[in-house]
Amino acid sequence: MSVLSSSSNLDLAPDIVVVGAGLIGLAIALELHDRGAAVTVIEHGRSLSEASTAAAGMLAVEDPYNRPELRLLSRLSAERYPTFLRRIEELSGIAVPFQTEATVQYLADGATMRLAEHSLDPRQLAPALLAAVKTTSIRLLEETRIATVEEATHGVDIRLTSAVVIASRAIIYAAGAWTAEVMAGLHGDAVAIAPRKGQMLRVRLPAALALREVHRSEQVYIVPRTRGPQAGTALIGATVEDTGFDTTVRTEDLGGLRALAAELLPEFESETDAPLVESWAGLRPATPDFLPILGACTRTGQFIASGHYRNGILQAPATALVIADLLEGKAPTVDISAFSPGRFSSRGEHRIRPIQ
Ligand SMILES: Cc1cc2nc3c(=O)[nH]c(=O)nc-3n(C[C@H](O)[C@H](O)[C@H](O)COP(=O)(O)OP(=O)(O)OC[C@H]3O[C@@H](n4cnc5c(N)ncnc54)[C@H](O)[C@@H]3O)c2cc1C
Repeated sequence: MSVLSSSSNLDLAPDIVVVGAGLIGLAIALELHDRGAAVTVIEHGRSLSEASTAAAGMLAVEDPYNRPELRLLSRLSAERYPTFLRRIEELSGIAVPFQTEATVQYLADGATMRLAEHSLDPRQLAPALLAAVKTTSIRLLEETRIATVEEATHGVDIRLTSAVVIASRAIIYAAGAWTAEVMAGLHGDAVAIAPRKGQMLRVRLPAALALREVHRSEQVYIVPRTRGPQAGTALIGATVEDTGFDTTVRTEDLGGLRALAAELLPEFESETDAPLVESWAGLRPATPDFLPILGACTRTGQFIASGHYRNGILQAPATALVIADLLEGKAPTVDISAFSPGRFSSRGEHRIRPIQ
């Protein structure tokens, strides 16, 4: 049975609650809204202030170092991106352009190949998406914390720390690197998602280099910004570190990234020719097999959409389609069995119980 089947009654009885206003949570909210659901998004901080704006923005569909199980979801998402951006523009009036249309991929044997892939600037996407969401009936509750989630005949009752109770048909956990922490806090459930830190720097493009495409090896990528406020600069990223929720940026790590970038394009070696503009670190939501977790939990009315690791910008539009399909009781257009919430359990089907 579909959890979206009956018509919605806004206010404190939304159809669906999404936890986390990163790109994954907001893409899901917009898709569910467009299918007729009343949606509330609960964000404990500020929207789009974590991994989704720390990212480089590559839509790395054909990255040979991605797990092959990701390919169909990634291709669906890349196909869907123009529609996703058009919908955002329609609602917000803000166009988000692609920054690049090709990637030069460096292989371990020294060969290179040219991939037809796009990139965009997540810091252009974020304000456009937020403005789009705010034109709709989606209720976005920032700086808001959930105290308890309890099963109920209609789905779930979500009690906020303010004591307000939201009666909902379903709740979708899309809290990125914090998803495991959120679910452990609410239910004591162990979900296999951990933060993986990525440090990154943005430099001014060397004058002699009119870079229009991404350059990427297994260790490093250089992503030029060709349009908008960051035009004329390039991102160099990123470290991959298991250091919990730490987001410290270390000068020596930035130096290491610059040296790796200079192995691909020597123009980036000199800090005079390619001066530092800014640096930061973000937390990718990583699972033990580097595949996302998409689907229903064992708890009635509860779903997970998280663990997108290095590809959450790419995979947001397809994730939204898949989760909305599941909530409508439809089979998603791509096979998501590799992304099942129960796959890390020794009992196999633990934590998978589709809504009946
Ligand atoms: C350095 C770096 C480079 C990257 N480059 C790329 C790239 O080029 N291409 C690509 O596709 N992907 C890239 N990624 C990965 C991508 O950024 C992530 O996969 C994606 O942003 C995950 O989105 P999300 O919405 O799940 O998480 P987030 O954007 O982190 O959002 C999670 C949200 O949940 C909120 N939250 C946490 N706890 C709670 C709670 N208790 N209650 C309510 N809300 C809560 C957080 O405040 C946050 O707003 C990169 C990541 C990093 C760090």
